[in-house]
Amino acid sequence: MSAKYVFVTGGVVSSLGKGIISSSLAKLLQSRNLRVTIQKFDPYLNVDPGTLNPYEHGECFVTEDGAETDLDLGHYERFLNIYTSRANNVTTGKIYRTVIDKERQGAYLGKTVQIIPHITDEIKRRMLLLGKSGQYDVIITEIGGTVGDIESLPFIEAMRQLQWELPDEDCLVIHLTLVPYLSAAKELKSKPTQHSVKLLQQDGVQPDILICRTEHKLSQDLRKKLALFCNVRPNAVIESIDADTIYRVPLMMRDEKLDEIVLEKFGLTDVPEPDLKGWKSFLDRLGSPESHITVALVGKYVELQDAYKSILEAFIHAGAANRCKVKVVPVHSEYLTEDNVEEKLEGMDGILIAPGFGERGLEGKIKAVRYARENGVPFFGICLGMQMAVVEFARNVLGLKDAMSTEVEANTANPVIDLMADQKTTTVKGGTMRLGAYKCLVEEGSLAYSIYGKPLISERHRHRYELNNDYVDRLNEAGMRTSGRNPETGLVEIVEIPSHPFFIGVQFHPEYKSTPENPQPIFVAFVKAALQYNKSKQK
Ligand code: GLN
Repeated sequence: MSAKYVFVTGGVVSSLGKGIISSSLAKLLQSRNLRVTIQKFDPYLNVDPGTLNPYEHGECFVTEDGAETDLDLGHYERFLNIYTSRANNVTTGKIYRTVIDKERQGAYLGKTVQIIPHITDEIKRRMLLLGKSGQYDVIITEIGGTVGDIESLPFIEAMRQLQWELPDEDCLVIHLTLVPYLSAAKELKSKPTQHSVKLLQQDGVQPDILICRTEHKLSQDLRKKLALFCNVRPNAVIESIDADTIYRVPLMMRDEKLDEIVLEKFGLTDVPEPDLKGWKSFLDRLGSPESHITVALVGKYVELQDAYKSILEAFIHAGAANRCKVKVVPVHSEYLTEDNVEEKLEGMDGILIAPGFGERGLEGKIKAVRYARENGVPFFGICLGMQMAVVEFARNVLGLKDAMSTEVEANTANPVIDLMADQKTTTVKGGTMRLGAYKCLVEEGSLAYSIYGKPLISERHRHRYELNNDYVDRLNEAGMRTSGRNPETGLVEIVEIPSHPFFIGVQFHPEYKSTPENPQPIFVAFVKAALQYNKSKQK
């Protein structure tokens, strides 16, 4: 069978959830034994989102092979329970870079290099790349941005060309739109969708399926009207009503028969019925918690719900695994002071210190670590959160009052966190951090070992700084155990405090690998510890 291609575009407004719709369709097809992957084409000129701050673009997701990518790749991995890679996220910056590099090498000698055909050819090459690997039956391509944006035009044009170049039964376009409800008129309105489809048609693309985001159910009449005006079959007008959790969307799409319509177009009639047992049992656990806990997420981007996406999702998975509803309370590290730290953190069953960059909010993070350490509150530090746990311990237990990371104080007398050796000569910022999966050897008898249940683990990284090995002996002697190290470089990857009920800091980002069907072990253990702490307080 040749690979099948689904393209997903969005119209009317942004943030309709193309990533969730793409992931949900992928989940349904995967549950029918098809090999599915999803890729995202983003229209901006950055080569990757690694140089964007979370205010611009939410969390930066990191793949096993060390690509800094759009956060939608996190959704793809969580829904499909498979890894994505560098090839799954393409930006306009990457496309132009390839074409311009080729031009300089003389690949187009004598020719004018143009958006059509050179840029569109490179987009098409990348759109087909994963399909050519032979690893997948279906490749879903999400086109970032909203139809009508100037910057996504070359992607739409490439998709138009592919619609003609690929056999009819190998290519399908889904358009996701908004059907708004006007409360004054008490009516759902179809006009924005009609206009959005017209924009696509102007660009030469006819969608096969319309998925309509709506707050109210679509009547049969409205579906018929949308079908008539948008040139699609009535059964291909799909309702996507707001869900209580994104993880229910695959089941909602199944009720709307989205998978069947796609399979019919592809002529795939002999695939099995979906097997969603594992997914449903996760949803059951999620929907029937037996206990509740509250954890603090201490960070500097907490006002933005997308900035710590993978962490929030990992808590949902770990909560379901413990049959516990985890309420995550954002605590802004910039406003945590000596005077208010107790007031802000008392009542928390666990404290997580988030990853981050730069000076803003650092002292607040250090105060939160101290509060957790001194009060026996379950503690979990991720990346910068682990680094600040080391700084706090060095300052308040070792008595090195000026201990700091050289990221913010280049000349500190006690650089307990310092630049990795190979980073000292690196000046280029894009894609040059320690990125992607690295192995870590966990010491037997440690908390980390009891969590993972094995000595050799692998987790994903995104940082330039590390625990300075010159301080390891002093930290160990004072009661901070360095329980995990990279087997090749000796870099410390995990710290813990054995005298504390649950205190762990990790240099890597465990949140990236958590999925509903494979919740991340540290998150699961942290929720469990928070649950115990909560119970012990009630005694
Ligand atoms: N800023 C720190 C570093 O580069 C931590 C990075 C992070 O938390 N992802 O090492």
